[in-house]
Amino acid sequence: MLIQLTEEQKMLRDMAREFTRNEIAPRDKWMDDNGFDWDLCKKITEAGFMGANIPEQYGGGGGGIVDTTIIAQEFAKGSASIATFMGGHWLASNLILENGTEEQRQKYMPEAVSGKIFAFGLTEAGAGSDAAGIKSQAVETEDGWLLNGSKAWITNSGVADYYIILAMTDPEQGTAGISAFILPKDAEGLAVGKFEEKMGVRGSATCELAFNNIKLPKEALLGVRGKGFKMAMQTLDIGRISAAAVCAGISEHAMNLAKAYANERTAFGKPIKAFQGLAFRFADMYAEIKAMELLAYEAATTKDAGGRCTLDAAAAKLFATEKGIQICLQAQAVFGGNGMSKEYDIERLVRDIRVWSVMEGSTEILRMIVSGTVLSK
Ligand SMILES: Cc1cc2nc3c(=O)[nH]c(=O)nc-3n(C[C@H](O)[C@H](O)[C@H](O)COP(=O)(O)OP(=O)(O)OC[C@H]3O[C@@H](n4cnc5c(N)ncnc54)[C@H](O)[C@@H]3O)c2cc1C
Repeated sequence: MLIQLTEEQKMLRDMAREFTRNEIAPRDKWMDDNGFDWDLCKKITEAGFMGANIPEQYGGGGGGIVDTTIIAQEFAKGSASIATFMGGHWLASNLILENGTEEQRQKYMPEAVSGKIFAFGLTEAGAGSDAAGIKSQAVETEDGWLLNGSKAWITNSGVADYYIILAMTDPEQGTAGISAFILPKDAEGLAVGKFEEKMGVRGSATCELAFNNIKLPKEALLGVRGKGFKMAMQTLDIGRISAAAVCAGISEHAMNLAKAYANERTAFGKPIKAFQGLAFRFADMYAEIKAMELLAYEAATTKDAGGRCTLDAAAAKLFATEKGIQICLQAQAVFGGNGMSKEYDIERLVRDIRVWSVMEGSTEILRMIVSGTVLSK
């Protein structure tokens, strides 16, 4: 499939690119050192990116998955942390958009557009890859639900206004007993842990959550009881497309940093780019970044056309995260000893890209999804 962006999508790409250059890239080092940047979050909201995935009738940009993929890729060229933050927000708000009642959409979608932050909570300390093993439980009461349990590694936790939480409602039914709930940050009984000291994407907030007898109203249930796991898996398709585009963006950033360095650094009386052994790294980097882009946009196009993209989204993320790590290491090698120094941005990118091979399905889990589908066809 050839990827053809519409005129509007090209304009969106240019706008996201300019915003990244002017607002995001200059803040990335600060975020790596200090964590989440509220001022930048405000600017992202004002520029309309928070609601890019939300239909115009709720005040959003009305874009599809291709549009958010474009923004994710462009933002990642300036900051993997911001791309992580946006991915978490879109994924969680999208769950309400696709599964909520009209009343829920009318309440939450305008909030997602206007800067309220959303987060998606599936993983627990004892259940990551094996997400069906979650232990958080929501028991139905006379006037709503009683939520107990915990979550771990939740992107945007500590800064989010709303959490979409997956919990067991009917444990004897396995994955068909998992449901989703909308949990506001000020719910009594919600405890947010300290920010994780991560190796990468340090400007995105990640914490543990604990639920201690949280009383939720009936309307907190998102979608149909028992369909939470299915909803989460479907939304992870979108997350994986975005992840692939983010890795393409980080990789392109790494290649461009290395290119600038290879032009200015000299050895043996020549710029190091003159040595074929080093120049060939750039041929591989370029080809692999193009392949990452194609896989990501093909899956996004399929999804926007209403098709099933689980296989292609998993394959896109698998390829992009694995190649992305190699590209960032190759780019770092161009810097020699300086590549090990925090004074050079390439060091941060090597840490940032590593995290993507764990989030939203580890490499092994993606290999299981892809190989399982390929072999069963
Ligand atoms: C920065 C960051 C942000 C995150 N954000 C979110 C978020 O917003 N929401 C959320 O719900 N979760 C989030 N996560 C959690 C993430 O999805 C999990 O960490 C991931 O699914 C892996 O789970 P785990 O850490 O429990 O590892 P485990 O499941 O314990 O896996 C450990 C290792 O075993 C391997 N493994 C496991 N099972 C198999 C198998 N069957 N075959 C072969 N190998 C296997 C894994 O690939 C991995 O290498 C985030 C994680 C990180 C690091």
